[in-house]
Amino acid sequence: MKRYGIQEVFDMLGEENLKVQRVKHGTRGSIEVDGYLVKHQSLRYATFYQKGTTCVCCGKQGTHFKLDVERGVDPESTKRRHFNLYAEDGTLMTKDHILPKSLGGEDCVENLQTMCKTCNELKRSTPQEDLELDVVVATEIQSGKETYYRSIEDAAYKLCMVIRGIGLDKKNKKIKQTCVRKAVQATLDLMNAINTKSVLCNRLWTIEKRIIGGKSLEEIMLEGATTDEPTQAM
Ligand SMILES: [Zn+2]
Repeated sequence: MKRYGIQEVFDMLGEENLKVQRVKHGTRGSIEVDGYLVKHQSLRYATFYQKGTTCVCCGKQGTHFKLDVERGVDPESTKRRHFNLYAEDGTLMTKDHILPKSLGGEDCVENLQTMCKTCNELKRSTPQEDLELDVVVATEIQSGKETYYRSIEDAAYKLCMVIRGIGLDKKNKKIKQTCVRKAVQATLDLMNAINTKSVLCNRLWTIEKRIIGGKSLEEIMLEGATTDEPTQAM
């Protein structure tokens, strides 16, 4: 099968298609390559262009592209092809999500890196341990106990609903308005506490990197929401 040079393929796809952060489905056009139709935008191409063609784990280098047909599709039935990047020994080079999608990682080049198929499969079969993430850390002043939240919204929800003991009543419109106001207030209070490093509800709120051993962010949030006893509203 014909080999295509890396720069050759990048030139065909065009820099404007390789510099994207995200790919919107349905808006992609195609280019014609040796009688085949190839979509000119993909997160893989953009990742290889922006992050390089070398595996971040083992250093294996992608050296050439080949035109492949979509898996499970009869090559005779379609003119559609896509470029796959290969190393000299035939190993397929893939895009890998730095923060896995299962943990809320996004489909954008910023969250992608180049990885060979061998390392990618190894990573998938290894539990996500020692994953370092930015989380909202609430440190109780008296006990020093830390609770993590994956976002300011989650921390504000906890602050509003659990720590301050304000529940949502879906039936009563007036109570609902009050709750929305208090939720907004809790978010503002929280952001102010984070920015000024001041104590709020007996806790110091910071955004820090923490190693989350093998837990999904949903678990972290849940853990935070159940371990604290509700205290009186402020
Ligand atoms: Zn590798």
